[in-house]
Amino acid sequence: MSKFSEQVLGWFDLHGRHDLPWQKTITPYRVWVSEIMLQQTQVKTVIPYYERFMRSFPTVEALAQASQDAVLAHWAGLGYYARGRNLHKSAMKIMADFEGRFPESYDDVLALPGIGRSTAGAILSIALQQRHAILDGNVKRVLSRYLALEGWTGNKNNESFLWHKAEEFTPISRFADYTQAIMDLGATVCTRTKPCCETCPVRSGCLANQQDRVRDFPAKKPKKEKPIKQAYFLVLENMEGKLFLQQRSQIGIWGGLWSFPEYESHESCLNKMKKYESQSTSLHSLVEWNSFRHTFSHYHLDIFPVVVKGIDENHALQVFGNGEWACKVALNSQQATLGVPAPVTKLVRLIRECKNV
Ligand code: SF4
Repeated sequence: MSKFSEQVLGWFDLHGRHDLPWQKTITPYRVWVSEIMLQQTQVKTVIPYYERFMRSFPTVEALAQASQDAVLAHWAGLGYYARGRNLHKSAMKIMADFEGRFPESYDDVLALPGIGRSTAGAILSIALQQRHAILDGNVKRVLSRYLALEGWTGNKNNESFLWHKAEEFTPISRFADYTQAIMDLGATVCTRTKPCCETCPVRSGCLANQQDRVRDFPAKKPKKEKPIKQAYFLVLENMEGKLFLQQRSQIGIWGGLWSFPEYESHESCLNKMKKYESQSTSLHSLVEWNSFRHTFSHYHLDIFPVVVKGIDENHALQVFGNGEWACKVALNSQQATLGVPAPVTKLVRLIRECKNV
């Protein structure tokens, strides 16, 4: 066993996390769901989502039988919704190709939608005690500091160097513990903004620490300005105070989630309303709210809500097409049955509170 893994395991025995929900009753299914939720998301955010998800979909079979809407409703607010869609698709594939048993071969796991090399390694090492290296964001940070690796960790050469090192450091026993340990070390000691080198088990061999250059690693991704896009949300409220939502296509952002009718320009949004007005004689009010920004990993989206109250459902159906009229309170509740993206939840809350953005 390398000195590095020995030190990491010794630290894990004393200080690692041993009581996370997915560490109780370990099964490949439970570990898989946790690993997918933990991609890009912190443990404390994941825990309530994980517990609710497991209550509703305790097995691969339950997940495969659920509707995509039900799955996405459990994902609403976690972001990166492709993760939820892929989890659902994978559950159906596991039912069809593996009789409902989570596959045990690395290649079969890697072939499931939404599972990359590191996630496959984490699931199989934690749940089935197989020897695989992992290289998630936490591990990249620890190793890039430990090895004082110059340059962005995402570039091809650095990435293959880090994989090589991750494999070299993976011990020949205690695979599950080591996988958990190295992730914990990155999440709790070698953190992004406040690394705690004084208590770190690997500080004696850490080059960044020796060179007093911890802040230099990992090097930042070469900066590219995020583009700004605009979207006009037509927030239609009927006489009963329900809001009109439409399901988005499976492709693109928020695929399969429910959102307000959306337009690229102010003009196209108001033209649609003019069309509605030409067909409806009922009274309604239209107010253009202040815009607000939602930021994705690769662009900013400035959202301009146009709130129209007193909409006639029959005319709306003719002009806007199919959709659902949803109760505002239900949309803001934990028991929501429609998956909606975070900016829609925010807008619904503001409408309920009558607060312009
Ligand atoms: S010594 Fe500091 S920089 Fe090096 S691995 Fe430990 S916490 Fe990270």
